[in-house]
Amino acid sequence: MKNKTIVILGGGYAGLLAAARISRQTEHNIILIDSKAQFVQRIRLHEALTGSQPKVLPYKPLLNKRGIEFIQAEVSELNPNQGCLSYASGEDQDQQLNFDYLIYALGSAIKPVLQGASTHALSLNSPQDSAQGGLRLAEINAREGTVVVLGGGISGIEVATEISDYYPQLNVKLITRGEFASPFSKLAQAHLRESFSRHNITIVEHTEVTELRERHLITSHGHSISFHLCIPCSGFKVPDLARKAGLGVDPSGRIQVDPYLRSLSHANVFAAGDCANVQGISKQPLRMSCAAAMPLGITAGENLLATLQGKPMQPFSMAFMAQCLSLGRQQGLIQFTNGDDSPKENIWTDRKAVMTKEFICRMTYAAVHWELKTGLRLYRWPKLKRSGPHALTSSVPNKVSSEVISD
Ligand SMILES: Cc1cc2nc3c(=O)[nH]c(=O)nc-3n(C[C@H](O)[C@H](O)[C@H](O)COP(=O)(O)OP(=O)(O)OC[C@H]3O[C@@H](n4cnc5c(N)ncnc54)[C@H](O)[C@@H]3O)c2cc1C
Repeated sequence: MKNKTIVILGGGYAGLLAAARISRQTEHNIILIDSKAQFVQRIRLHEALTGSQPKVLPYKPLLNKRGIEFIQAEVSELNPNQGCLSYASGEDQDQQLNFDYLIYALGSAIKPVLQGASTHALSLNSPQDSAQGGLRLAEINAREGTVVVLGGGISGIEVATEISDYYPQLNVKLITRGEFASPFSKLAQAHLRESFSRHNITIVEHTEVTELRERHLITSHGHSISFHLCIPCSGFKVPDLARKAGLGVDPSGRIQVDPYLRSLSHANVFAAGDCANVQGISKQPLRMSCAAAMPLGITAGENLLATLQGKPMQPFSMAFMAQCLSLGRQQGLIQFTNGDDSPKENIWTDRKAVMTKEFICRMTYAAVHWELKTGLRLYRWPKLKRSGPHALTSSVPNKVSSEVISD
């Protein structure tokens, strides 16, 4: 079989694990493109607000060792029909690259702030953002200022408690559209409220923010809340590249895939991580998470390899087990879940939770690092009991194709 060119877009959890699995067996040309020079442990970015340095993995030495070429570049255009893309690297703003197969794993970023602009809003999308935020927080802390965290999801909760732990003089407020912590079990909700009260964090719930101004925001109730720094944590947004490229996407821009993670519109493209719309057993798209991105990356990589080898692909299968939250450095919450990510009643708190969260953070980093370093299939995850194309549904069920592509 003629050598093929496989391009992996994005070196996050999904892209790197896809690369690790493909590089185990293939003689084909594998190229990974990322705008950064190194993998950043994104799940620890909130800790960098308080001075910790998230661990990094420089791409080039790690990937080259596995025979994968690394290009540091911003991908600007994609043409899946013709199998080519454009990227900007260094001085050269318009370079072209042809591919036979693509793994699209460009992840997501924190949703940009809504209407209005504020130079006092900070998005946690890189260690640089976090470090800059840390400097600002130290300065505001000295004058007992106010920080507003927008969004009551996992990231918002982790960010608010991290800040309040480290900067006790700050007045921290968390604003959430719905009821605070409602997706968690009753026990977990009580624990979170108690933890927020211990941290002296004000919860402003049932409140939508409609406008963000220079030093204050306006709520849907017409109230004004002033702040010195605002940190939006109201969800993730995927890049627009897939939609612009004509790939089949859902309204939020996530790529629609079949149970094998192959694009429904283009069979030469696989998608993995936050930017893939994979529906779980609850028929909702999987939560954008490192927990899902890792198995998605592995499955996409192995299915692409199977395609090249003329072997049957495996449908994606994964069962969530828990949501692991840090509540500052001294407290935590492990919310055990059903396979569809809905909460069970049992939770872990305090020391056991802190240690479990720390273990998960270390383990995810180690899995990426050691899979690439050794070429071994080290990462395992819980799967749904009833696996197969019906356990996880395709984004558009009627278009599911289960044929095996051979080269
Ligand atoms: C503060 C915080 C805490 C979190 N905590 C948790 C947690 O506890 N548990 C959990 O499961 N999840 C957590 N998450 C979510 C988790 O980090 C993401 O879901 C996960 O990183 C998604 O992995 P991915 O590989 O799909 O994409 P990403 O990790 O986003 O990686 C995508 C890569 O693509 C690159 N890229 C993007 N666009 C381009 C382009 N145009 N050209 C070139 N390169 C590009 C980026 O540089 C990046 O390296 C957290 C997120 C944040 C921000």
